[in-house]
Amino acid sequence: MLTLPRFEWVAPATVDEVLRELAEHPGECLLVAGGTDAVPNLKHRLHEPRRVVSLARVNELRGVRELSGPRRSRDGLELGALTTLSALAREPLLQPDFAPVSRAASLVASPQIRNMGTLGGNLCLDTRCTYYNQTYFWREALGFCLKKDGVVCHVVPQGKRCVAAHSSDVAPTLIAFAADVEIAGPEGRRRVPVDEFFVGDGIHNNVLKPDELVTRVILPESSRGALGAYRKLRPRGAIDFPMLSVAVAARGTRERIEAVRVVVSALGAKPRLLGSMNALVSGRPADEDTFAAVAAAASKQCRPLINVPYDDDWRHAMVPVLVTRALRDTFGIPSA
Ligand SMILES: Cc1cc2nc3c(=O)[nH]c(=O)nc-3n(C[C@H](O)[C@H](O)[C@H](O)COP(=O)(O)OP(=O)(O)OC[C@H]3O[C@@H](n4cnc5c(N)ncnc54)[C@H](O)[C@@H]3O)c2cc1C
Ligand code: SF4
Repeated sequence: MLTLPRFEWVAPATVDEVLRELAEHPGECLLVAGGTDAVPNLKHRLHEPRRVVSLARVNELRGVRELSGPRRSRDGLELGALTTLSALAREPLLQPDFAPVSRAASLVASPQIRNMGTLGGNLCLDTRCTYYNQTYFWREALGFCLKKDGVVCHVVPQGKRCVAAHSSDVAPTLIAFAADVEIAGPEGRRRVPVDEFFVGDGIHNNVLKPDELVTRVILPESSRGALGAYRKLRPRGAIDFPMLSVAVAARGTRERIEAVRVVVSALGAKPRLLGSMNALVSGRPADEDTFAAVAAAASKQCRPLINVPYDDDWRHAMVPVLVTRALRDTFGIPSA
């Protein structure tokens, strides 16, 4: 049986109290929301904090709100970081405009995990790798790796960066719908596009500093009315993390597409908003020829690695398949 390491436990009740904890104990704290990722990682000694700061009592971080007043023209919906994935999966305010966000939340893990797991934890989910998500004993036998306790990457041995896989289901849909994330820190609050929240180094794959936390996600009013879809490839229909995921948001109709955003994830350390897609779809009908052009371009831009225990060639071959299915879903065309 894997046991938890020893740590001090605090449960502040407000964002300001959380920030004070982080400021008073620099570099010593681990934030825990639902704990569904952090607790197994603590047991594997992947995190070794002196202090665990629970967010569970910070009620101001819960809930989904429709914005009103002057902010309404820019910001459509505000999703609190402590909102559970179950709540997102059944949230009426996400329907119909942001249905893929809800869908992605509903595909995470299992009902028990979605009841505990939160949006903030999903965004800040640690990256995953065959050589990392193991017990201390296993990793020690291998000589550890760059991400934790070692100096070499076993996936890209000459590499200087960790390429462990970004595995959040919800993040790609937030990028497709051009959402922002709000971060609270000692200097106040700042907003960054979710796309810019992530960085391509799996050791720490986001821009959060040790004295900051995620407070909310903002879905923009301008993304309302877009069509969209989320597709996830996983070994089993439940529990498993994605081995490939695709989120799409599009403007237009079946007769004439105006624009499309395609995000592919679970391949490298950050989700990837694919480039040059609008030139392939703009003014064209939503048919198999158009989808094939987008799928081929997506395949060229994606390069799976052996960072998760599934064949990289097969995952690469599935990129155009999943992109095509997501495009069909987006325009309401059934897949065979
Ligand atoms: C068996 C199993 C299967 C899973 N399958 C999936 C899956 O298919 N898809 C998927 O996306 N996830 C999956 N997960 C991972 C996890 O359950 C979810 O991603 C969940 O949303 C994490 O949320 P949490 O609140 O439990 O995060 P926690 O475990 O509490 O935290 C995760 C990380 O986020 C940080 N964090 C949490 N909240 C904040 C915040 N507000 N600000 C800054 N940092 C924060 C923590 O410090 C920690 O590093 C799975 C987990 C398990 C155990
Ligand atoms: S990608 Fe390399 S450095 Fe990162 S966890 Fe895997 S083996 Fe370690």
